[in-house]
Amino acid sequence: MKTLEQVRAALKQYPVEVAFPDIAKWQHGNTGVDYVHSIDSGVAGPHVMILALMHGNEVSGAITVDRLLQAGLKPVKGRITLGFANVDAYRRFDARDPDATRYVDEDMNRVWSPARLDGADDSVELRRARQLRPVIDTVDYMLDLHSMHEEAVPLIVSGPLDKGIRFAAEVGAPEHVIVDVGHPNGVRMRDYGGFGDPASAKNALLIETGQHFSARSRDVAMDSACRFLIATGVMERAALMAFMSAGETVAQRVIKVTEPVVATSYDLEFAEDYRGMEIIAQAGTVIAREGEREFVTPYDNCVIVMPSLRQLGPGVTVARLGQVVIC
Ligand SMILES: [Zn+2]
Repeated sequence: MKTLEQVRAALKQYPVEVAFPDIAKWQHGNTGVDYVHSIDSGVAGPHVMILALMHGNEVSGAITVDRLLQAGLKPVKGRITLGFANVDAYRRFDARDPDATRYVDEDMNRVWSPARLDGADDSVELRRARQLRPVIDTVDYMLDLHSMHEEAVPLIVSGPLDKGIRFAAEVGAPEHVIVDVGHPNGVRMRDYGGFGDPASAKNALLIETGQHFSARSRDVAMDSACRFLIATGVMERAALMAFMSAGETVAQRVIKVTEPVVATSYDLEFAEDYRGMEIIAQAGTVIAREGEREFVTPYDNCVIVMPSLRQLGPGVTVARLGQVVIC
């Protein structure tokens, strides 16, 4: 039986290419919730929110929100809210153990159900989610900025609903759109309340910008945030050009997740050094082993989505499997 420390020690270490912004100056906002700031245009329109640091070591979103706060955005309609979620975990970041500060007590992106939020449990993350909840309850369009354990192509996670896929197309980048129902061990914010209700006009996207500490992730996060603000109509493109990447927009590819690969121990190993978005041609190909158990691809042309062993443990999703959808 391996330990998580042993598993992590065997994985590739990534350099920290970006500076972690000092966000202490943003503690006192104007919303009554620490580290959450709102800018109201005074003109009727949607309430849109960009949230960073749902996971404490995912710095690309924090850099984006820090820069947008410094920029003093002036929305043309509606209201823009900018916030940092798991500040306690972010404060504990240590470059010598960069994977340890994803959260303090529990994964904050698995607590977004009324049962957990209204329940009797207590954790650093539940306390913070309960603080954020009244703000999030008033948001029409949410962008939740994340990054990935491994160096992989950036992704939009649209959730399972058609409205999420349409929203991803309106934002227009990154290239890969992951259509999924979330995780077996708890509800993500992007699926919370109206965001996950097909009858509601509310909508949310989660963007995985690339490897946590890469310069490219930082740039993807900022570009995605600008596209989101333009797509929701609260900002005009001209006001954001200085923050956006110059690259061409490419056609998006939609991948529907069909099932998770869930570990039951610390002994799971992948058959190859997957980085994500690999397409495995043959059904029945072994992609991971855990003791005697083999995980095989359930169909031809199976896409490996976000593989990583960095948070390995019983009940942890270490990858998801998906099919390319022809839209
Ligand atoms: Zn994350």
